[in-house]
Amino acid sequence: MRFGDIPGQQPIKDRLRKTVHDHRVSHAQLFFGQGGSGKLAMALAYAQYINCSNRTEEDSCGTCPSCLQYSKQAHPDLHFLYPIASTKEFDKDPVSTMFLGYWRKMIAKHNGFFTLNEWYEQIGMENKQGLINTADCNDLVRKLSYTSYESEYKVMIIWMVEKIHHQGANKILKILEEPPDKTLFILITEQQELILPTILSRTQLVKFPRYTNDDLKAGLMQMTGCTAEQAKNAAGLAEGNLTEAIRIVGEGDTETELFIIFRNWMRLCYRDDIVGIQKIADELKDNGREFTKRFFQYALKVCRYCTFNNFKLPNLISAEGEEDEFITKFSPFINPSNVEFFIKEFNEAIYHTERNAHISLMIMDISLKSMKWLKIN
Ligand SMILES: [Zn+2]
Repeated sequence: MRFGDIPGQQPIKDRLRKTVHDHRVSHAQLFFGQGGSGKLAMALAYAQYINCSNRTEEDSCGTCPSCLQYSKQAHPDLHFLYPIASTKEFDKDPVSTMFLGYWRKMIAKHNGFFTLNEWYEQIGMENKQGLINTADCNDLVRKLSYTSYESEYKVMIIWMVEKIHHQGANKILKILEEPPDKTLFILITEQQELILPTILSRTQLVKFPRYTNDDLKAGLMQMTGCTAEQAKNAAGLAEGNLTEAIRIVGEGDTETELFIIFRNWMRLCYRDDIVGIQKIADELKDNGREFTKRFFQYALKVCRYCTFNNFKLPNLISAEGEEDEFITKFSPFINPSNVEFFIKEFNEAIYHTERNAHISLMIMDISLKSMKWLKIN
């Protein structure tokens, strides 16, 4: 990660760069601020900058051997701790290193902007509470006792440090008190009030403000490729949280995708095009259960909108552009004589999707019924 990959937060970038130029990199720093303010991304960019062998005033070079390893979070002197718990895959004595593959993937996929819950979901933790456990803290102390492989600084990034187990916290405290030479700890938290005062007093605090509206819009367009209009809408809802804003833009995309698949599906059903329908069934199956569930939730929404339209209540419909056009044209096909069949069928589809139904077969069944129902008026 380079500073240039991170939208906005210019004063923080300036401050961190200055510590390097002035040779005053504090050995323990606490990055704190609300979610979606860029703390993890900035920690990665800062660590890469410190260790870059060819950095400029502004940024790391991105091409030296150190930068190349940093760009994949694979530098031997870069270490991470993050909350974990046992999962189906790692059901015994879990430690952070077991999940390193997921961690790197998560950073690459989201550019460092993701929530704790997204992380838990990614590693398959289900409803457990994550913890930075004592075994992990012991491991970190052990790693610090080795001399560094190749870089100037060993870097330890502890993400969501408020989740640290109290026994582990004691180990970390000790090492923060007497840090080995050329070691940088970056502790990250969204809940500064939960951090032990003894840790707070040993770290330099770096407060991350919320994103400004302008930085948020520019960041969204840079990271998601959305339009200025989409960026404006998402920024208006996200309260300075870039992670949240990215999620909102993504949901808009999914909604559009659901609409296109649904419209296509209904057209194929009307034309009795079994081959086309089979393709849609396979597409939904490949997109997974969560997506299929949302597809049928979307289908229920269309039923509602068509009903509003049929009862001359268009002000209850919040659809725009092509979707609005589709609802208007499609309303005669979902009408008082058949709407309850559709609603019952779509609700059951959601139920069965959650309970491991064979998605592709289920959709073929519903399609066969829909072919008949669409012709009732
Ligand atoms: Zn470099």
